[in-house]
Amino acid sequence: MRVGIGYDIHRFDTGRALVLGGVTLPGERGLAGHSDGDAVIHAIIDSILGAAGLGDIGTHFPPEEERFKGADSRALLATVVDLAAGNGYKVENVDVTVIAEQPRLAPYVAAMCESIASAAGISPSQVSVKATSNEGLGALGRGEGIAAMAVALLVDADS
Ligand SMILES: [Zn+2]
Repeated sequence: MRVGIGYDIHRFDTGRALVLGGVTLPGERGLAGHSDGDAVIHAIIDSILGAAGLGDIGTHFPPEEERFKGADSRALLATVVDLAAGNGYKVENVDVTVIAEQPRLAPYVAAMCESIASAAGISPSQVSVKATSNEGLGALGRGEGIAAMAVALLVDADS
């Protein structure tokens, strides 16, 4: 068994859709970023790469590369799960905490779990997404962006 941690933060940007955990939240201000700005999936990607000892998201998907502009982060997650499988690991479970002052994420949590599970080729029961606010403290508390923390557990692919 191997465990890994991931963290990501994106600031809000106008003129972009808000995509979290592969789910588009209608009518909300989006997040800046070279890809779709999905901080939740980016944190998960880093947790899986960390658990597998395979570097980080920036080494696999360099933001300066044109082909990742506007990329669907679910596709990047699928690529990373395949990479881990190639190294003998499968994802046992993923746990995520999203830190956002706005919007309220509870109505989207189930859809996010389904979307993440589908991209990672696992069951929604193996994915946990929790949302919290930053209690008004700091940049996140002022609603300047959204952050996500993730932990992934990988197990031997043959088990
Ligand atoms: Zn990111």
